[in-house]
Amino acid sequence: MGRARFRFHGDLNDFLHSQRRSVWLDYEFRDRLSLKHAIETFGVPHPEVGEPSDLNRPLRDGEEIEVRPRLYPVPPNGQWRFVLDGHLGRLAKYLRILGFDTLYEAGADDRRLADAAAAGRFLLTRDRSLLMRRAVVHGLLVRHDEPRRQLEWLAARLGLWGAAEPLRRCLRCNALLEPVAKEKVWERIPPKTRLWCNEYMTCTGCGQLYWPGSHYERMQAWIRALRAKNE
Ligand SMILES: [Zn+2]
Repeated sequence: MGRARFRFHGDLNDFLHSQRRSVWLDYEFRDRLSLKHAIETFGVPHPEVGEPSDLNRPLRDGEEIEVRPRLYPVPPNGQWRFVLDGHLGRLAKYLRILGFDTLYEAGADDRRLADAAAAGRFLLTRDRSLLMRRAVVHGLLVRHDEPRRQLEWLAARLGLWGAAEPLRRCLRCNALLEPVAKEKVWERIPPKTRLWCNEYMTCTGCGQLYWPGSHYERMQAWIRALRAKNE
């Protein structure tokens, strides 16, 4: 029989009952097991953990382990690549509005999500057991129910605002947009919009037509306010 103690810090405490937060927790174990396994028995998924950094090493008798959240660095050029589970459709749309590469399919099963995560995408999910899958390297459990709060939380947690580039990506299919001449899409522009707008974009994936204000209008003020608050 081995004995160890664990103490969880920061937002890892979101996974623990209130009386177990930020205090030393006793842990008894019989067989040889990894730190990852031991930490996940507390309900804390391994992609959330920054320290200890080597989770694959065996837990030793008598150890006292301080467990701290993982702080994900902003990738080069702010090129976040996300994959979201089927419960997070609104959040996926918000991330695309902000220009982030966001894989989302309403009916995607766990296997497909885990494969996308294994291929290097950052998994955002409401499903703790999915986040605990071995194949998942980078990811977070989305903490809130309400989509706008989800985005506020995520943007603050990952520092997304600095890397956001609105009006860059298709809300429907995630492909990049490219500028298109007004004459070329004249027939597709609502007559009232033709009067005031001269800049148009089309999706390189599905062909959807965009212009400043179209699908983004109601979001713009909110995004500006959030950015101002966080910069
Ligand atoms: Zn598209």
